[in-house]
Amino acid sequence: MREELIKFVVCPDCRGKLKIIKSRKIERIKDGERIEEIWDGILKCTKCGRYFPVVRGVLWIYPKNFVRIDIIGKISKVLTE
Ligand SMILES: [Zn+2]
Repeated sequence: MREELIKFVVCPDCRGKLKIIKSRKIERIKDGERIEEIWDGILKCTKCGRYFPVVRGVLWIYPKNFVRIDIIGKISKVLTE
């Protein structure tokens, strides 16, 4: 995902802003233009403290009651790398 898109995304539970805790970026060429994207990473809600992973360029954002065990595994894996 493009880093500049983060400012348009809010936490689905408390509508707080998200900030990047950890990220690994890639560069690629799109329409002849070099763009930088977050490939893997962790975003954190600045209000309630929830974590949201970015997995292979996709932000996994979902309400609290949709927590899945495989997502928790990915978060803890990225945080401990
Ligand atoms: Zn929140």
